[in-house]
Amino acid sequence: MEVYGSKDIWLWGENGKDTFSVAMVKNLIREGMEDRREQLMQWETWIPMKVNLFVWRAEMERIRTKVALMRRRINVQDGMCSLCDSGDEDVMHLFTGCTFSFGVWLAMGKWCNIAPIMAFHFKDLLSIQDQVPGCKWAKKVIRGIVMVTCWALWKARNEKVFQGTNPKVVEVVAMVKSWSFLWLKGMSKFANIVWKIGLLIRCI
Ligand SMILES: [Zn+2]
Repeated sequence: MEVYGSKDIWLWGENGKDTFSVAMVKNLIREGMEDRREQLMQWETWIPMKVNLFVWRAEMERIRTKVALMRRRINVQDGMCSLCDSGDEDVMHLFTGCTFSFGVWLAMGKWCNIAPIMAFHFKDLLSIQDQVPGCKWAKKVIRGIVMVTCWALWKARNEKVFQGTNPKVVEVVAMVKSWSFLWLKGMSKFANIVWKIGLLIRCI
């Protein structure tokens, strides 16, 4: 890093050829160092960027759960899970320890015709596809569906928090099925997919 005269220029990189802004420096400080933790998330092409981004942030525990807000000294009424009202609402609880989420994962496992989805940590969810026998396409479908499920759970949580809705497991499951079906159909390989994803996974 070098500083020149009255106008500061930040140089970095192995050869010092790259310049970057203050905002980028801040991002590096805030995010870069701690992101060196091993990340399991692989970006999935058949689901939207916003869902990929959400899962990426969730793995790094950068989503605004109640516990995360409390850590930032943002005032929340309590730290209890918005979906089940028991347990501290952090990433691990919301997506793996929550009774509401558990019901959704159970249904998704059945729909995908795979063993019941059990996870103790968010990272466990990101390797579910490795336990699924079959070709790379089956694994891609499962990986995407797991990510869509996380997204749907977070949406349901937010709707309850901000709009006062009372989400039900069956509604979240229906959302995941509907979005997965829609987004998978966007891929040419799956243009003619049938509704039963479990059957699809056995066929590909
Ligand atoms: Zn919960």
